[in-house]
Amino acid sequence: MKKADSPRKVPRQKMPEQAPEKRRKNFEEVALGFSPEMAVMEASRCLECKKPLCVEGCPVGVPIPEFINLIKNKDFSGAVRKIRAKNALPAICGRVCPQENQCEGKCILGKKGESVSIGALERFLADFERLSGNVELPKKDKSTGNRIAVVGSGPAGLTVAGDLSVKGHDVTMFEAFHKTGGVLVYGIPEFRLPKSIVEAEVGLLEDLGVKIECNTVIGLTSSIDELFEEGFDAVFVAVGAGLPKFMEIPGENLVGVCSANEYLTRTNLMKAYDPNYDTPAPSGKNVVVLGAGNVAMDAARTAMRLGAESVKIVYRRSMAEMPARKEEIHHAEQEGIEFVLLTAPSKFVGNKDGFLSGMECIKMELSEPDESGRRKPVPVKNSEYIIDCDLAVIAVGSGANPILARKEPGIALSKYGYIIADQLTGKTSKRAVWAGGDIVTGQATVIEAMGAGRRAADSIDEYLCGGEF
Ligand code: FAD
Ligand code: SF4
Repeated sequence: MKKADSPRKVPRQKMPEQAPEKRRKNFEEVALGFSPEMAVMEASRCLECKKPLCVEGCPVGVPIPEFINLIKNKDFSGAVRKIRAKNALPAICGRVCPQENQCEGKCILGKKGESVSIGALERFLADFERLSGNVELPKKDKSTGNRIAVVGSGPAGLTVAGDLSVKGHDVTMFEAFHKTGGVLVYGIPEFRLPKSIVEAEVGLLEDLGVKIECNTVIGLTSSIDELFEEGFDAVFVAVGAGLPKFMEIPGENLVGVCSANEYLTRTNLMKAYDPNYDTPAPSGKNVVVLGAGNVAMDAARTAMRLGAESVKIVYRRSMAEMPARKEEIHHAEQEGIEFVLLTAPSKFVGNKDGFLSGMECIKMELSEPDESGRRKPVPVKNSEYIIDCDLAVIAVGSGANPILARKEPGIALSKYGYIIADQLTGKTSKRAVWAGGDIVTGQATVIEAMGAGRRAADSIDEYLCGGEF
């Protein structure tokens, strides 16, 4: 390499995107991916550290410098094989993982400049593999004859299903919805993670032999004990944290106030945005979204695409405390979403027919940090005012999915209704039942749910192969 081309001199490659004024009117993917030339250029920035801090930041331990080295040598197939050995959902993780807090957050280059764009490289490889049509399935071990039920098909369930299938077990995945993927399909919008990408990854699991039963709510359709009676040897529960939280302020029952969960599910999974579908979706000209996490950004950007004239994110703290990924906040700003900060809603106001017409808010100021470490917002006296709106989407968090847990008294729960499971193995208090993902941790991230799935799959395999429990 010439001196001028030393890794530190090559700038971080910027992924092409749809222009904001165009994309705010469509549901097509915003980020367009690296070309092979850009990927090789970006890979050339990696120092291939002897002690790669980036790998420490990856919850599933992807061998990052090794796959990047293969990209440098243009061996894209070899590089994607390296990733797949540790991560069964690279096209998804490359798109939605918060890399800035994980691998990229630890990359040594980030200390003095810009980290290697590891997520974009992972996405490039997964897309290259899919588009080439040469997806290599991992080699399966000999059949063990053991049957495993996986309840829930989000990233935790998908990981367990894939890992145990490769180990030769017979896996059936049960899903309450008519489509597999969990939040990947019903929460995260098409413009961030196209459904076709999730379908392709799920298709690979089916090719591995995983059986999928949709429209099946375990806890209602059958209980866990009935699954054992049917012949399953172990059960993994990954039912997520999809129970919406509300503000509990007056006016929440007005027509035009809804949870982000409902709003995004109707729009994304049930295709309410597509005129060819009959799904009714709450629509508004002047939309307010309450909250400042990824879910709030997704809801606000969805409202913009559904034709709103104005979309405001209302948040009681300041920009610095927003929990959403920086990239999502930046994209939302580019698309014309307005941020109303240091402002908390106090009540929803309706017209005589019971439709939302406005939201009363109060201004806030920040005082000392609270138990979360963030500065606590306190109301400013007599600062109430009304924001006109006809749709309010509440995105202030979610709780444990209660359907299964409430019906299974043998599974110990925390006081908030989350399943108590061993951190290292995912084992619950019920014999032969494991759990992982958001139903154990509360809403976290895709890769954390996958990490929990991997640990549980190892533990289930050990149990089925005669380990001590
Ligand atoms: P889930 O993905 O919630 O899947 C649980 C599945 O179980 C669902 O399909 C559900 O229908 C099914 N189920 C529930 N009960 C039953 C039952 N009784 N029987 C059968 N099936 C059942 N994370 C990131 O890393 N990056 C992001 O950009 C990001 N954006 C997000 C945006 C939104 C709108 C939301 C809501 C979350 C986002 N997250 C993001 C968080 C991430 O998606 C979750 O942490 C992750 O999906 C949790 O995976 P899981 O497998 O535990 O559960
Ligand atoms: Fe490459 Fe950064 Fe990882 Fe070092 S820390 S191996 S530079 S990606």
